[in-house]
Amino acid sequence: MQSFDPSQPDGFNQTLDSTVSADGIPVIAERYTVPARCGVAVRLTAGRTLTITNPTGWQVCDFWAFNAAELHEYLSMPHVHTDLLSVFPKVGDRLVSNLRNPLLTLTQDTSPGVHDTTIAACDANRYKQLGVTDYHDNCADNLRQALLAIGTKAPHVPAPFNLWMNVPVHPDGSLAWAAPVSKPGDSMTFKAEMPVYAVMSACPQDITPVNGDEGKPSALEFVVHDG
Ligand SMILES: [Zn+2]
Repeated sequence: MQSFDPSQPDGFNQTLDSTVSADGIPVIAERYTVPARCGVAVRLTAGRTLTITNPTGWQVCDFWAFNAAELHEYLSMPHVHTDLLSVFPKVGDRLVSNLRNPLLTLTQDTSPGVHDTTIAACDANRYKQLGVTDYHDNCADNLRQALLAIGTKAPHVPAPFNLWMNVPVHPDGSLAWAAPVSKPGDSMTFKAEMPVYAVMSACPQDITPVNGDEGKPSALEFVVHDG
């Protein structure tokens, strides 16, 4: 079997040139863009807040967080499910790691609160399964590139918190793909409970309707505040 390094992308896009700074530390209160189909990582000290905005309303953000001192500790959706006894985090909920420590608290959500915590990040193999023959931008590679771009490495591609992604969970356990129900300009705010790297990917999925029925991936925006 070919050796596999989870930190290395299967391909590259503009993510490598989309950093906030060489070490990922953002300018406070500066408005940044996550370009369509790309990813950006930011370093947050404890107490800082990250507000992510969805300008078009239909764009999904694959979202990850890692303990900045030890990236093997990361935001883990199965552990969040256990902690919240829910698959839908709400305002006021803490978001825990694979070691069950709070990494972030969700402090604001202007959308109807429909997000996904069940689906893996899109990756090169996912697009091959969907019939794409050339390289397709993907969230796993955006995460890897976003961390490489600020001088660190993803030890793993955890299952993301898919902001605004609408995957209805039916009583029989089946799932479905549906367009986001968020509105243009909806935003979510996360407060860091420890120093973390937060990574956002403007999901480039343009085959299934997760980024709207027209399949037109768009940009996201974000801003970091001191509290
Ligand atoms: Zn994606």
